[in-house]
Amino acid sequence: MESTISHPRYMGIPTFMRQIYAESAEGLDIALVGIPYDGGVTNRPGARHGPREIRDASSLTRAIHHVTQVNPFEMCTIADLGDVMFSKVFDDAVSMAEIEVFFANIVKAGAAPISAGGDHSVTYPILKALGAEAPLHVVHIDAHTDTWDVFQGSKFHHGAPFRRAVEDGVIDPKSMIQIGIRGAQNETTGWDYSLESGMRVIFMEEFTALGVDAVVAEARRVVGKGPVYISFDVDGLDPVYAPGTGTPEIGGLTTIEGQALIRGLRGLNIVGGDVVEVSPPFDQTGNTSMVAATLMYEMLCILAEAVEARKNT
Ligand code: MN
Ligand code: MN
Repeated sequence: MESTISHPRYMGIPTFMRQIYAESAEGLDIALVGIPYDGGVTNRPGARHGPREIRDASSLTRAIHHVTQVNPFEMCTIADLGDVMFSKVFDDAVSMAEIEVFFANIVKAGAAPISAGGDHSVTYPILKALGAEAPLHVVHIDAHTDTWDVFQGSKFHHGAPFRRAVEDGVIDPKSMIQIGIRGAQNETTGWDYSLESGMRVIFMEEFTALGVDAVVAEARRVVGKGPVYISFDVDGLDPVYAPGTGTPEIGGLTTIEGQALIRGLRGLNIVGGDVVEVSPPFDQTGNTSMVAATLMYEMLCILAEAVEARKNT
């Protein structure tokens, strides 16, 4: 499958990182996926428009990583698998099920996904699909723990995906780390659930005190050898770097810390990842989409190495 592109990067229909569009994951090592869904937001909407803007911004992506020299596009067969096409966007349970089916098909084809949300509710059905065989170990970067319970009558809002995933046994909370947590809450239910279920929770103040290298070391200790999934909510970053998001919290990670965190997971048994909560209507300069596209590229580089390592064993 040809993924080398010779024409200038501003030409043509934008796919993720200018990869070919594939209608099936068969034969792919890595599938890039859009999830245009924000039926789970509790406040400011717009993340449904994330995939389209991130695709456009990802036209800037180049091949060889400036630190690791990894070229994921040479190592792996990669394609844009398009969007999860929702049939009943007003029904959250149906939408969750449609995401799960889409990702179960990727797993069945033997491919690994990197996706662009969408609000963070989309991660729950992804975890169900990828964690069906064995519980996933998770690196979760976010201002919020997303382990709250029912809100406004829904189990499937963007503040609850990791609680649902623990309940279903598709993630191992004792092998999960949450990084960048901060911001006042009206109740402590989510923070309490994370700690009581055994997750390692690194609030932003601890992150600042430890520094990024020590946090990387702690993340590697927590997830160990297990199948690792990375979920990056762009509100984990400070809003000066990622203003286009639904629930911004000041005092967050810098972009270089976000890149270093992902890159620091190099060599682990990575099975997939997502970048969520980009809300283009709040992204006046388009910077948040560009940041998200670049974080997806960082994930792609370490995922490509993991895919290759699994092929060789
Ligand atoms: Mn989140
Ligand atoms: Mn968040």
